[in-house]
Amino acid sequence: MNKKENETYLTGISISEGIVVAKACLFNEDRHSNILEYEITDINKEKDRLFSAIKIAADQLGQITMDVEERIGVAESKIFVAQKMILEDETVHETLFKTIHEREVNAESAVIRVMDAYEARLLDVDNEYIKARATDIGEIKRRLLDVLAEINPSFLCSGLEHCQRGKDRIIVAKELTPSLTISLDTRHTAGFITEHGGKLSHAAILARALGIPAVSGIKNIHNIITCGTDILINANKGEIILWPTEETIKRLEVTKTFISKDTVREKPIKGTRVMANISLQQDVTEAIAMEAEGIGLYRTEFEFLARGAYLTEEEQFQIYSQVIKSMKGKPVYFRLLDIGGEKTADFLKLPKEVNPALGFRGSRLLQARDDLLRAQARALARASVSGPVYVLYPLIIDINQFKLLRDKFLEIISDITTGDIKHGVMFEVPSACLQAEELLAEAEFASIGTNDLIQYLFAVDRDNEYVAYDYTPDKPVFWNLLKTIVKAAKKHNRPLSVCGEIAGNKKYLVKLKKLGFSMLSVSARLIPVIRKELNKLK
Ligand code: PEP
Ligand code: MG
Repeated sequence: MNKKENETYLTGISISEGIVVAKACLFNEDRHSNILEYEITDINKEKDRLFSAIKIAADQLGQITMDVEERIGVAESKIFVAQKMILEDETVHETLFKTIHEREVNAESAVIRVMDAYEARLLDVDNEYIKARATDIGEIKRRLLDVLAEINPSFLCSGLEHCQRGKDRIIVAKELTPSLTISLDTRHTAGFITEHGGKLSHAAILARALGIPAVSGIKNIHNIITCGTDILINANKGEIILWPTEETIKRLEVTKTFISKDTVREKPIKGTRVMANISLQQDVTEAIAMEAEGIGLYRTEFEFLARGAYLTEEEQFQIYSQVIKSMKGKPVYFRLLDIGGEKTADFLKLPKEVNPALGFRGSRLLQARDDLLRAQARALARASVSGPVYVLYPLIIDINQFKLLRDKFLEIISDITTGDIKHGVMFEVPSACLQAEELLAEAEFASIGTNDLIQYLFAVDRDNEYVAYDYTPDKPVFWNLLKTIVKAAKKHNRPLSVCGEIAGNKKYLVKLKKLGFSMLSVSARLIPVIRKELNKLK
């Protein structure tokens, strides 16, 4: 298909609103699938090639360490320090060179053979920390292969003249995973286009939190465009325009980038507490700038996903303490790790499931993986001396599960001197909502995760664009279920908030207020929008 210079309209679904025009940057998902092993004749030349690649990769890691230290924090940068150490280890070098020498094979093949063997050995050790280091080996392997192939780790256009790296660009990917969204330099991400993914996927939530326009469901986009193609995203209509004309750009009043730098603030208002949903420690800065009256949902799993690795108790303790201290006594709702579903984490080596949304995720995973709960519970307990800690249990299915996990949490922390810790339930599964009375007699607070609740109530995948028409809160049965929870919370006098995406949607504010909700939690940049609307409702 060669439609260059012919304006071409393609329709998908909007997952984060806004209009933007920029050049495309194609994410390269299959870059290591075709690496071949072949015999070489000049062994020394091959060894030199590998030696130079190791040096370049080590330099890259040094640079990344400094970058991450500056952008995110010292703790986060340590992962790259560790990778650099492995890469510079003499024994690793010897094994790699020996493989080239003995097998007379290319450097790529040696890297794959040696690193895969190391990875397998680490995965075999019965210790979660050591197991998690296997991720580092995988990352080092990919980095070395990228350097050997002289390709950019992620983007097809790397090194070419039209490469958009470092400029405002539209990222085009088959699917936007949370880790990819987070790993990108968001200052230069003008928009996202994906082939798959629904409005309520975590990546979509992140895109909205970052204010980046995004459209999904554009089939075969990889076959139509190349890196550098001009694209206009009109996410307000779920549409993209390839090779847009000047007139179209003018007509749609495209601003270069939709990322708004000067959001107008709105003061807290009486009657409704508006808190912030955050994913990473650094999101607190924006929450504070927007005068959030607490953190109503801290999706702690993103700290792990962003790092692509397991976080130790100590690492978690440092991060959580910082968040608590920054919020200066305001509540922080720490949602326990909600990994699983579309938030897959290779480093946890979870079993492959046919239906992960109904498998090992949320509290079910925490029940099965004592190590995860243990490290997080202890980190939170230790951090609670810096300020109040509200622990939210994700995807609770019933009172038995809640009690079991909470009691396990209490047992794990029994030897720690703590501050104030409260235990609350996330209402995201219909069976839990139908037991709201019993649950709220036991739980000290609760929050409604409407994103999953809609998914499980109507048996409709929140990430599937084909069935997106059924993914809606606009059905009476949904609101009746919320009413049941509100009633139970009133009866037991428990704080109840909504932290799903509907809380940040102006359209549902009147309904939520009418039902009696006085606590909402939304993306930090939506706080002023919601407060403005609430002021109008007074
Ligand atoms: C929800 O399900 O509404 C929720 C807030 O949790 P998440 O979107 O992280 O699943
Ligand atoms: Mg959820």
